[in-house]
Amino acid sequence: MESIIASNIRRIRATIPAGVKYVVVSKYRPVEQLQAAYNAGERIFAESRPAELAQKVQQLPSDIQWHFIGHLQTNKLKLVLPHCSLVQSVDSIHLMEAIEKFAAANGLQVNILVEVHVGAEETKQGFSAERTLEFFESGEYEAFGHINFCGLMGMASHTDDNERIASDFRTMQELFQTISASKKKPAHFQELSIGMSQDYMIALRYGATMVRIGSASFQLD
Ligand SMILES: *Cc1c(COP(=O)(O)O)cnc(C)c1O
Repeated sequence: MESIIASNIRRIRATIPAGVKYVVVSKYRPVEQLQAAYNAGERIFAESRPAELAQKVQQLPSDIQWHFIGHLQTNKLKLVLPHCSLVQSVDSIHLMEAIEKFAAANGLQVNILVEVHVGAEETKQGFSAERTLEFFESGEYEAFGHINFCGLMGMASHTDDNERIASDFRTMQELFQTISASKKKPAHFQELSIGMSQDYMIALRYGATMVRIGSASFQLD
């Protein structure tokens, strides 16, 4: 009998176009559940806590691509950067500077997304759309020689209002397209990470290249 997780994943997979990356958000899940997702064919997992990530990396197959999606404190970089193929949640210049320093000292080239704050929530981490545009169009990012700026990550407002969610994703898409069309587009800039379990079908309409799906991947009913 197919496991529940395998059937969740098969059902979700069928809704994601080829060429869009399915990031299985595995934070707080036990390794057995990650192994079930791996056995179902998934290879991109995302974690939000440094110690939990570092531990899971040791316990699971080495061909997994690990993404980091949580708030990252600068004293935790050594638990995260050596293991991650992408840090999606870079939410401040301070963090970028710390990543640059760590990467230079350790001979790493680190792939990141800039986390953009578009939702209604006041306290959300991340850069405003205006600041993000300025950061790229001014060439400010070029000071970070050990960071590959691979794109943008954002979350829609936490609401049931699909119009509001669509409007947030449209803002992300327009920002992504503006930077992509700019003379100052970074060499690796290609990913738009928007959409989670509840809203990824909307995000796909607004150009998501990557969706981050946790609870729907692992739900047990
Ligand atoms: C937890 C989390 C997700 C996954 O959310 P679900 O609603 O469980 O799909 C996606 N992105 C980020 C940044 C998260 O923290």
